[in-house]
Amino acid sequence: MSEGAAKKEDRRKFQAIRGTRDLLPPETELWNRVEQTAHEVFATFGFGEIRPPIFEETELFARSIGEETDVVSKEMYSFPDPLDLGEMYAQYRSLETTSPGAGQFAVWANILPGSQLIAARPEATASVCRAYIEHGMQQLPQPVKLYYLGPMFRRERPQKGRYRQFYQIGAEVLGGSDAPAIDAEVIEMVMTFFDRLELQGVQLDINSIGCRDCRPKYVELLRAELLKVKDKLGPDSQRRIETNPLRVLDSKLESEQGIIATLPRIADHLCEECAKHYAEVKHQLRLRGVMYRENWRLVRGLDYYMRTTFEITAQGLGSQNAVCGGGRYDGLVELLGGPPTKGIGFAIGEDRLILSLQESGKAPAAQGRDVYIAWMGERAHATAVRAAKDLRKAGFSVELPPMEQKFGKALGQADKLGARFALILGDNEVASGEWTLKTLADGSQAKFTERDLLEHLRKSL
Ligand code: AMP
Repeated sequence: MSEGAAKKEDRRKFQAIRGTRDLLPPETELWNRVEQTAHEVFATFGFGEIRPPIFEETELFARSIGEETDVVSKEMYSFPDPLDLGEMYAQYRSLETTSPGAGQFAVWANILPGSQLIAARPEATASVCRAYIEHGMQQLPQPVKLYYLGPMFRRERPQKGRYRQFYQIGAEVLGGSDAPAIDAEVIEMVMTFFDRLELQGVQLDINSIGCRDCRPKYVELLRAELLKVKDKLGPDSQRRIETNPLRVLDSKLESEQGIIATLPRIADHLCEECAKHYAEVKHQLRLRGVMYRENWRLVRGLDYYMRTTFEITAQGLGSQNAVCGGGRYDGLVELLGGPPTKGIGFAIGEDRLILSLQESGKAPAAQGRDVYIAWMGERAHATAVRAAKDLRKAGFSVELPPMEQKFGKALGQADKLGARFALILGDNEVASGEWTLKTLADGSQAKFTERDLLEHLRKSL
């Protein structure tokens, strides 16, 4: 590369990586409101917040979510821990020295010892279970009720409502019993949260996907039936007959809908215990006044779910309309090396939740400043600085221009920022101690002493 070209390259503009985006004001106000509501509502159900790390051992996700799932096999941002690269290189060199080619083979076959893969978390349930085990939370009063919020990472094809860095708000109930009332209360909590946000067009779908006893039998039956109609299915579904036949039920392909409608339904193949559990979950939901729809085709994309599964859709999201997914995952903690533990949880897609709120006009209007301080002159500046401090202390949003402006320009600026009031401070005001307050909506003006001004603003904002 010539020097000129290198310089040009240096000056290129950076852009956010595909599938990631900046959340900006005023939209971030809505994000904050949503998150604040989550903190409040979840606390009323006795949940405490957990903040697990953003990256974990890749193996944690592979083991819990399942190697065959799209999330693990295709979408995870997984990489060797850079701290180990030096060590790997030393090992490579030493292998190459003793037997040329051996080092290269070890790299190619991914068998160099000491290299640990880490992954940006694609979801947080595995992390919460890991933390439950790591901190011996089974010693605490059971069940342990935790919630989290934060970014997740999946290398999916970006589209509306689907990002590579997206945000989830989720909760997990770990330990204790698998009483159906727990399932119902968890669902009730999400619905209460959505209700508080006035999310529109909320639809709750529920299903039971059985347990380790009855599900494999159903899956085999499903596989056998699918094999009979294999050539009528698309390539994705054909592949899934082998890897995960349940996922065929998820298919949105128009041509497959007729065939899927004729497949055996899991509700007819649940074992007695699972059938009883499912019936009781529905009863408990009705007790709580939670409206649901049974959807026998609802299966979840992650391997660890069993029995109760649910999904919530909302208005204005097009094909990516699932705003929350969840279910029971008894056995997951055990799978990760912990004691036998019951578990149930959900994850809300915060990006989609926000999108739906915006589409239905539930987003708050951008908040302008309360007061713009238009000052002129050295003495007025000192007063303006003090006034800004006092007004902010009283909780008002204040814009204090850093440089003197002509009053006309200052008022124009106040208008552009959507300020409710302009506080005019010039030599006259400082000398008399009577400050001028202009209401920008109607242009009216009134004079106030410093004390009366605070009182007046409190009443009118
Ligand atoms: P899952 O962890 O796959 O059960 O997803 C739970 C929820 O997270 C979904 O219902 C979506 O609302 C949201 N979600 C999953 N993947 C994405 C993504 N790539 N972009 C935005 N939201 C997502």
